[in-house]
Amino acid sequence: MLKIVKFGGSSCASSRQFQKVKDIVLKDKSRRFVVVSAPGKRSKKDTKVTDLLYRLYRSLCLERERGPASEPFRDEDGVSSADHTKDAFLSEDVQGEGAGETSSDILLAIGARYQEIIDGLGLSLKIMPLLEKIRSDILEGAGEEYAASRGEYLNGMLMAEYLGFAFVDAAECVCFHEDGSCDFAQTFKKTEEKLADLPFAVVPGFYGLDESGRVRTFSRGGSDVTGSLIAAALHADLYENWTDVSGFLVADPRIVKDPEVIDYITYQELRELSYMGAGVLHEDAIFPVRKEGIPIQIRNTNHPEDHGTMIVANTLKKPRFIITGIAGKKDFCSINIEKAMMNSEIGFIRKVLSVIEENHISVEHTPSGIDTLTLFIHQQELEDSEQRVLKGIQRAVHPDIIELEADLSLIAVVGRGMKSARGVAGRVFSALAHEYINIKMIDQGSSEYNIIIGVRNEDFENAIRAIYNMFVLSV
Ligand code: ASP
Repeated sequence: MLKIVKFGGSSCASSRQFQKVKDIVLKDKSRRFVVVSAPGKRSKKDTKVTDLLYRLYRSLCLERERGPASEPFRDEDGVSSADHTKDAFLSEDVQGEGAGETSSDILLAIGARYQEIIDGLGLSLKIMPLLEKIRSDILEGAGEEYAASRGEYLNGMLMAEYLGFAFVDAAECVCFHEDGSCDFAQTFKKTEEKLADLPFAVVPGFYGLDESGRVRTFSRGGSDVTGSLIAAALHADLYENWTDVSGFLVADPRIVKDPEVIDYITYQELRELSYMGAGVLHEDAIFPVRKEGIPIQIRNTNHPEDHGTMIVANTLKKPRFIITGIAGKKDFCSINIEKAMMNSEIGFIRKVLSVIEENHISVEHTPSGIDTLTLFIHQQELEDSEQRVLKGIQRAVHPDIIELEADLSLIAVVGRGMKSARGVAGRVFSALAHEYINIKMIDQGSSEYNIIIGVRNEDFENAIRAIYNMFVLSV
């Protein structure tokens, strides 16, 4: 049995969290390869080290432009900044980007985050010389992605020392093309070469190297992708993704109080829910493991006893409720087009969609009636080109009426259990009717995994609660 385990930012945010990680990793010998994020938030108000690194990069670039001498990384008394790290750690001021913040302030804040982990665990790594090197690399032209990647790099070294595992730099395993996309074939090859014969290792997440040897990163949250790539490359049995929640929730906890955890979810259901805004895992983390048939288990570092959510290709496990999850997004608008005999006019929909395409807008849904066609579009996307789009549609298909409606939301009710259940749509309607919520649109994909409902923005939260109560609370 081989497990790849990835720990997110909040799981590696402090020495206390590192201890929890060690307990988890050492409890199971099959947890051989550990991927870590940079230290994340320890509390709501805290700042992620990755954000500090982006700020450091911007600040050093500014100082370099203003030149000539960027601020020395020592104070007037010649005291090395390492001596200040504890003070900086206590100061909330340096955590927030503010006027007058210098690169040295930011470096101190970053140093303090690592120093707390080093001191708390009695590690030997000297953080300040490593930070000095990062600073001088940036001043000499290293890019923003290099700067951002250093959070994972340093944390990986600390975690390796603490666990007594080998440290393998992601730069030696994860490969990018020049355009910033992942080079899967090379990544799988190099990862296998580097890791397969090691008994245990820590690999920093989030970054790799491109063909010309520059450090590149995935988009934010990309350590999930690193874990998935390593799991796929080594044909692991399971990819455990440890975070600060006990799995995917049936609904957004900011809307529904204490929602149930989803215990099993298929990749396809997950894709539908993630697209609609339910985020625990980076979207690109699914593809590599899915291709290899490796399940992902989302688990909680703070509650390792919880089962979490198992993401699988397919399962006979009956979902606990008919629906697996509800997610949604606000701020859509609709363009309603009416024309008598529209359905017999060949090419009508194509002509309308060409106008949308020419304006570089993506359409979310296109429900239609006999003489009507509605386009659901992200409001923000339409705002700039609104008049061009309306004129284009007018000229392309000469409709009888075009109407615009703003401030709409889309809600997806997703579940593999819906396929074999009767009356799901009916129950959704009656839940909403009970709450006096007007349904603006309904769309059921041919997969029958998914019902999409359009409501007004002001009804969004109530609609989600009503559907949750109908399918989950009342069971
Ligand atoms: N540290 C990076 C971020 O904050 C990547 C990650 O945590 O996965 O986005």
